[in-house]
Amino acid sequence: MRSQEEWIEKDLKYVWHPDTQMKQYEGKDFKPVLIEKGKGIYLYDADGNEYIDGVSSWWVNTLGHSNEKLNKILTEQAEKIEHVLLADFTHRPAIELAEKLIKLAGEPFSKVFYSDDGSTAVEVALKMAYQYWYQNGKPEKKYFVSMTDSYHGDTLGSVSVGGIDIYKKIFSPLVFDTIKVCAPFCYRCPKGQKSENCTLNCIEEVENLFEQRNGEIAAIIVEPLVQGAAGMRMYPAEYLTKLRELCDRYDILLIDDEVAMAFGRTGKYFAFEHAGIKPDIFCVAKGITAGYIPLAATITTNKIYNAFYDDFSTLKTFYHGHSFTGNPIACAIAVENLKIMEQEKIIDKLQPKIKKLKSCLDKFKTLEHAGDIRHTGMIGAVEMVKDKSTKEPYDFKERMGHRVFLEALKNGAILRPIGNVIYFMPPLIITEQEIEKLTDIAYSAIKKVTES
Ligand SMILES: *Cc1c(COP(=O)(O)O)cnc(C)c1O
Repeated sequence: MRSQEEWIEKDLKYVWHPDTQMKQYEGKDFKPVLIEKGKGIYLYDADGNEYIDGVSSWWVNTLGHSNEKLNKILTEQAEKIEHVLLADFTHRPAIELAEKLIKLAGEPFSKVFYSDDGSTAVEVALKMAYQYWYQNGKPEKKYFVSMTDSYHGDTLGSVSVGGIDIYKKIFSPLVFDTIKVCAPFCYRCPKGQKSENCTLNCIEEVENLFEQRNGEIAAIIVEPLVQGAAGMRMYPAEYLTKLRELCDRYDILLIDDEVAMAFGRTGKYFAFEHAGIKPDIFCVAKGITAGYIPLAATITTNKIYNAFYDDFSTLKTFYHGHSFTGNPIACAIAVENLKIMEQEKIIDKLQPKIKKLKSCLDKFKTLEHAGDIRHTGMIGAVEMVKDKSTKEPYDFKERMGHRVFLEALKNGAILRPIGNVIYFMPPLIITEQEIEKLTDIAYSAIKKVTES
């Protein structure tokens, strides 16, 4: 039998890890952690150490690891049919899930297009929006607008609408041209306003752009309420409400990338509910299977769909599909996920947890280097800065976030940071007591790393 060290040795020999400089594992002090099993909000390594999964395994897990009900559905569905193509064939899980999603999202949504992950859901949305205008006799509406520091996935189309340098800069000769507008990031407000008297004048930039170039703009794509990969940067729901008005006024589609936010993260099923609006197209993935296996959906309205619906010979078909489109096991798990959310009143039960998280975040204010403390629903974030008064950031080479991560890991919490931002995005089933434990571990780790 292989020892744990031998497993890790093999890992480093054969596995190329995502978003990782592999050379960092050369030293003795830090290697990938070999996870053996999970239960609820906890993960266990090969030595039996227990960790709170404070980031829901990259924002996917909602109902806990190795959930009994989901495990049961997984095996039951595998025994019926594990996979079948979704062109000219269909299956009950895909149908049931689409029906449930449309009911949850409400009017005017009417159609669900499946794919495999967040990036593909975004690719589908972009192509759908472009082809919609093309088939409505407006091929010149070909530009996409997105926000600075946005993140929509790692495939080239989604990188094109992305705005974070580390994911994009090298590939800039390969991606298509997009138009950027300033993200409404309140801590470092692009307009120099204070949140107390914010008038959301950052949206004027969007208004001016739309007014000047609406004839060539297909859509604007946004991450609703929280720019996740940018470091959990948050903005008010009214921004989305105003954006919807502008999109209506200038005949521009609104694409809402709910990949990270849907299914409870913000305290509602979908983040757009906070703004009282409906986008034209929205993307879901991550939490749709409660974090079990990959599945994504791009959801839209008849307005979009009807532009594709015509005789075969007109070539208006949406020629897009992935081998595993609408995989039955994934769909069955997603259906069960939605049933559990409804039966166990997961969203209702979040409300006291959200209050608890908010109060637990308050204690970070006393930390010398906690520059900004952000909170939306079940997400909390602490941006560490070198100097609180000037908001001067730590140099990325200092790897402050990574140091806090290592410290917290020793104390039983997984808080994989984004640069200098430590954030909490635990599975939704976490208890109030566990929220306290998780934030306490983070507090001590930040204090130790930044104040000693
Ligand atoms: C994670 C994420 C994506 C990409 O999803 P993958 O499943 O990683 O391809 C897209 N958009 C947002 C907002 C995300 O957070």
